Amino acid sequence: MNAEIIAVGSELLLGQIANTNAQYISEQLAEAGVDVYYHTSVGDNPVRLSQAVKVAQGRADLLIFTGGLGPTKDDLTKETIAKALGTGLSMDGEALESIKAYFQKTKRQMTPNNEKQALILEGSASLKNENGMAPGMFLKKDGISYMLLPGPPSEMRPMFSKYGIPAILGTLKRKEIIYSRVLRFFGIGEAQLETDLEELIDTQTNPTIAPLAGDGEVTLRLTAKHESKSVAAELLDGVEEKILNVVGDYFYGYDQDSLVEVGMKVLKGKGLTLSCAESLTGGLFQSEITTLPGASAVLKGGVVCYQDEIKKKVLSVREDTLKQHSAVSEQCALELAENVRTLFASDIGISFTGVAGPDDLDGKKAGTVWIGLAVKDRPAKAFLLNLAGGRNGNRKRTAKYGWHYLLKELT
Ligand code: ATP
Ligand code: MG
Repeated sequence: MNAEIIAVGSELLLGQIANTNAQYISEQLAEAGVDVYYHTSVGDNPVRLSQAVKVAQGRADLLIFTGGLGPTKDDLTKETIAKALGTGLSMDGEALESIKAYFQKTKRQMTPNNEKQALILEGSASLKNENGMAPGMFLKKDGISYMLLPGPPSEMRPMFSKYGIPAILGTLKRKEIIYSRVLRFFGIGEAQLETDLEELIDTQTNPTIAPLAGDGEVTLRLTAKHESKSVAAELLDGVEEKILNVVGDYFYGYDQDSLVEVGMKVLKGKGLTLSCAESLTGGLFQSEITTLPGASAVLKGGVVCYQDEIKKKVLSVREDTLKQHSAVSEQCALELAENVRTLFASDIGISFTGVAGPDDLDGKKAGTVWIGLAVKDRPAKAFLLNLAGGRNGNRKRTAKYGWHYLLKELT
């Protein structure tokens, strides 16, 4: 089965909104193992919508529409599709009742055009709208399946996940289940990861391996198909082991994990406390930590030591270090990490000093960053980064590298 997603709405073509519905539906279908070959966007115009339907009928088995199910005149998706399929519309009793109940509950007057929302394509199954009024619908005709979904993401998403996906899988009569796992990597580029795993990626069929890069991270989505959930999990375990044998150094977590979450879990688990000396990150590293509940068990605090004077006064970086090597140096990063650890009496001290850019500074290229790491009872270490992003990209990337090196040191 292959699907085409047709988003209806002139606001999409005017650039007023982005087509996030297509993104969401595609993501869900990928997880369900249904291929999406085309995304189409079309305005609220019956002629062009009919044309889009005709084109899609020629190249897809499943057409999924979003938008245009509302009560107003420009909402014409189902009317247009009814015409294209040569069927009529009929009142869905259950949907009508729930619309009436909604108006009673909110003590608002129901206008006749609201009844229109309860009309569904003849012969279709309605998909319950638990977050709005217009029901969705699903219809199979002449070998092609049609699904109509409301435009507002708050209505469309839950409807599609809860009722849409099962309806689609039902028509497939597929016994296998699809089981996915995302492996997350940091500190390795997408190209390098793909090269290292080239043979495995090319020869692997079940599970399949799909790389995706973004925000300085690379993920691999492993997708297994099997009738038994436990066998599918075993298949995933097997290929995960093979992958980690090659690139395990860069692996940090699964699915929705983030570096800061994983890092904080490790520190909490080991009962370690942390303090930070932040120059170019300006507090970003700590700000991310404090988005997590229970951060105070780990984070003691830190210093935003932006100017050299503060590095000297508050964190006792030696005058000599700054004069001889400048603030963007291995020596300075080491002193900052060790001294903040001592000042805050924490188990770990971490420091960030560098040139965020866009301009070079004192002969140091933009993107030159030193991260210092001082762990109790171990010699302090410093790591050099040569980043190539913009100012804020470099700052964010630096904070992630902080966790990357911290995790490497502790696990
Ligand atoms: P309503 O009952 O609200 O009119 P509808 O099913 O008729 O819903 P539209 O009128 O087409 O849907 O769109 C309503 C709103 O939903 C849009 O203003 C927009 O905010 C959002 N929306 C519509 N289509 C998309 C899309 N493809 N991606 C993201 N958001 C969308
Ligand atoms: Mg509308």
